[in-house]
Amino acid sequence: MDSKQFREAAKQLVDYVCDYLDNIRDRPVLPSVEPFYLEKQLPDSAPEDGEPWESVFNDIEKLIMPGMTHWHSPRFHAYFPTANSYPSILADILTGALGCIGFTWIASPACTELEMSMMDWLGKMLNLPEEFLFSSRGNGGGVIQGTASEATLVTMLGARSQALAKLASSCSSNQSIPLDKLVAYCSTQSHSSVERAGLLAAITIRALETDENLSLRGETLEKAIKEDKAKGLIPFLAVATLGTTNSCAFDNIVEIGEICQKEDIWLHIDAAYAGSAFICPEYRHYLNGVEKADSFNMNPHKWMLINFDCSALWLKNRHLVANAFNVDPVYLKHDKQGQIPDYRHLQIPLGRRFRSLKMWFVLRLYGVKGLQEYIRKHVRLAHEFEAMLKTDSRFEIEQPVVLGLVTFRLKGSDELNEKYSKAINDRKQIHITPSRINGRYTLRFAVCARTTEQDDIKFAWNEFQTVASQILKENEQ
Ligand code: PLP
Repeated sequence: MDSKQFREAAKQLVDYVCDYLDNIRDRPVLPSVEPFYLEKQLPDSAPEDGEPWESVFNDIEKLIMPGMTHWHSPRFHAYFPTANSYPSILADILTGALGCIGFTWIASPACTELEMSMMDWLGKMLNLPEEFLFSSRGNGGGVIQGTASEATLVTMLGARSQALAKLASSCSSNQSIPLDKLVAYCSTQSHSSVERAGLLAAITIRALETDENLSLRGETLEKAIKEDKAKGLIPFLAVATLGTTNSCAFDNIVEIGEICQKEDIWLHIDAAYAGSAFICPEYRHYLNGVEKADSFNMNPHKWMLINFDCSALWLKNRHLVANAFNVDPVYLKHDKQGQIPDYRHLQIPLGRRFRSLKMWFVLRLYGVKGLQEYIRKHVRLAHEFEAMLKTDSRFEIEQPVVLGLVTFRLKGSDELNEKYSKAINDRKQIHITPSRINGRYTLRFAVCARTTEQDDIKFAWNEFQTVASQILKENEQ
């Protein structure tokens, strides 16, 4: 493909993308295919001779679209939102064209420097303490990770390395470092990625009970630390969540932060979903206590219109992570080393894409006000759905609605609700995913797509009511 052919193909694809997104409501949100549907339709191996673009283009609708779950359908209400916006797609085109691998400053100075500035811009939008920002010219700064899971793992490894260094300095040199004695804390409501990071880092994770609001409290953490120390264990990290996946609950980071500071434990905050809301002054209070944290993470690729992948991690002392991963082969060295961060030290892979371009495009084209309006609209729509639920006595709301997530159930057994949830998804008109809250099977309704409007909420509510009537009738028989 030469540039002339690319120009034409790209125009055709841009038209296709616009039509797809403009008309996405017309497609069932869930596909109707069975496993291996695609294998049956694809040739066994790659073509010997290159094919014309037209034949690839035609296969998008024929082969790919039937197997798509449409995450950007305004009727997608599962999981949490994943971002999608035209400015971000534009940036992805440019990123693909530049195709740089910005592991060091010299590998593309713009790639490193735009990321530093964007992480500072976003940090200021969130009103993060100065210490987390590069502009403070201290040890802090932000880095874009692929996912919140990676951010948790990276910080866990940094905290582990710091803990082991402290232990080594207090042990005689012939004592072995007791990795199996290290213990990290999260809550029973933390995302599974925390447990997974523990498995990957070979660290014991203790999931602590929450209070009646599903919030981890300082005294629970303090008690666990005391118990573990008495057993000879070494507490070194606590992971708190702001906006849990199950129910959008908030751990009490003011209390937890105090304990972590007193016990000299690393505090990492996972605000993968809810973090975007903190750019609105009315939600920023949920972040009070962040000044006591060592690291803070949120996913602009969830709720800030920056397409996957873009997970923002700020560190108060980035050198603790950089030193934990530092290997320095001669082929990666450069003359300016040490004058400006080399991002390869703050992540697991070596290679990295120019992801800050999409942040730059989105922040400039929407502006802070545009993004705040977007968050507020989703929260408003979630409250509208909550109000609809309250009009129908067959339903009960499980947890208070704070942001864009509503948790609820049909009054009745878990079996009834499981059947209900399945029946909703089987119709493929809307898509939801469940959770278990306080031991009960619960439905989650998240406002996800950029284009979700009041009519889509009414549409979803109509689905919920229709299917509830069917299921309850079947149950009576
Ligand atoms: N943490 C929380 C609170 C989440 O809700 C999620 C995903 O929904 C994650 C972490 C994992 O995010 P990622 O897919 O970016 O690893």
